[in-house]
Amino acid sequence: MVEFCAPTRRSLLLILGAAAGAGACLGAPSSAHAKSSKAAAAYRGAPNGRQSCANCSWFNPPSGCSVVSGPVSARGWCNLWG
Ligand code: SF4
Repeated sequence: MVEFCAPTRRSLLLILGAAAGAGACLGAPSSAHAKSSKAAAAYRGAPNGRQSCANCSWFNPPSGCSVVSGPVSARGWCNLWG
């Protein structure tokens, strides 16, 4: 015997919620973990006045950056400085 299962309001909300969650998860890695290229951030190996990687909140000593890919110099700078 085959029974027809009519969707209830609750089941429809659960399905829609799961679909929205799956979409958010699928989109998360590319947006949450993407770093800018040095070219896109206009990185250079020299400070901009008093601003440099060494005093930027994104800098991860000795040569890492949380928002720009690749090694950076403590004396470098880019337009994402902050
Ligand atoms: S100035 Fe730019 S490259 Fe340097 S640490 Fe900050 S965000 Fe990264």
